[in-house]
Amino acid sequence: MRITFFGATGTVTGSRFLVEHQGLRILVDCGLYQGLRKLRLRNWAAFPVKPASVDAVVLTHAHIDHSGMLPVLVRDGFKGPIFCTEGSADLLRILLPDAAHLQEEEARYRNKEGLTKHNPALPLYTAADSDAVLGRLQPMPEHVAIDLGKGLTATYQNAGHILGASSIRFEENDNSVLFSGDVGRKSDPVHLAPEKAGNADVLVMECTYGDRLHGDEDPAEELLTAVLRTMERGGTLVIPAFAVGRTQIILHLLAELKRAGRLPDIPVFLDSPMAIHTTDVLFKSPGAHRLSHEAVCRIRDLVQFTPTPEESKALTARPGPKIVVSASGMASGGRVLHHLRRALPNRKDTVLLVGFQAAGTRGEALENGSPTVKIFGLDIRVECEVTRITSLSAHADAEELMQWLSETGKPRQTFLVHGRPTGLQAMADRLLEERGWDATIPEFGDSFVVS
Ligand SMILES: [Zn+2]
Repeated sequence: MRITFFGATGTVTGSRFLVEHQGLRILVDCGLYQGLRKLRLRNWAAFPVKPASVDAVVLTHAHIDHSGMLPVLVRDGFKGPIFCTEGSADLLRILLPDAAHLQEEEARYRNKEGLTKHNPALPLYTAADSDAVLGRLQPMPEHVAIDLGKGLTATYQNAGHILGASSIRFEENDNSVLFSGDVGRKSDPVHLAPEKAGNADVLVMECTYGDRLHGDEDPAEELLTAVLRTMERGGTLVIPAFAVGRTQIILHLLAELKRAGRLPDIPVFLDSPMAIHTTDVLFKSPGAHRLSHEAVCRIRDLVQFTPTPEESKALTARPGPKIVVSASGMASGGRVLHHLRRALPNRKDTVLLVGFQAAGTRGEALENGSPTVKIFGLDIRVECEVTRITSLSAHADAEELMQWLSETGKPRQTFLVHGRPTGLQAMADRLLEERGWDATIPEFGDSFVVS
């Protein structure tokens, strides 16, 4: 077997790994690059393997940095099945059309404003391209071996993280290769705890937080503090949150604070069509998450949804106090930009960051205390309070990754991906020191024979 690394090398986006076995070519994830321009340009380059030569895709989970290039793969000639879990299929039906919509919007904007060297600027892919992917999905249950041919199977095991997220174990004869996917946390309020990794001959592991520990503060308390401080000023609390996963956690925490009688009367709005649809999936898929039916109902009772553009516009203009949860989580696009444009120059308001902020995003600029942020071509002054919840993450931290591996014997080979260079190196050092494992940090295009 051979593994080639076409993404998430030295960075956290663009996950794509090619597994080759006796002439079979299986792509593990097909992610979009996000963040820095030099990485995003890779989305436009010819796909690193000929799409028609790939036999199947096995997807770890629905996040766009793992799935967002599927429309290009299918459009450019891939003819095989796309395996994923039921939960991932539910989310892909929401995420991929949205991703296509954003691509089309950006092309339209560039053409309108003349911000393009191309004539005309074209979207990376269209809604029709993303629809073609949805017809190709083959949802599979966990712990059932998927026969890929030539004696190779793939099996899903739960990774926590978001609905449907899984690790993938490839097996042929006595060899096993485990791709971690994105590993979640035992303490996640909404999503299931990840299963232990188990033994594998070859391990490919994410290291998003390979050099960090999440705070042990109670996220509900941190959230409540931000709410109360903003209310005192009569302001608006804007929470940029990933539509899938993080939004549902924030809403659940608010609903439980309300139930405990600790959340004062303040209207809570969810202003993201995608997040609204994803919140509906909680109702549809009991058992795929930790929340009881009653807990999901409490979210619905508390939160006002603003699906239409008109409702969204009216909400932006509505004075505080209020709480607005809106996407995107790194303020790289979406309706949250309208709320930020209003809130950032306003000393009464608060922007609460609740997730990972990738390099080059507005979210990262805000996190680093930038005095201005560019929105819709305008330099917006940052006068409002900017704060963050430190203890909330969909990703295991360094300690939790070690716990995930606690029942795993020494693999023959270990590869570390999906992290910043410092996180990857810190995890490599730690694995060597504590477990005696020699880990490799692959670079883009590196290829290894693993059995
Ligand atoms: Zn993810």
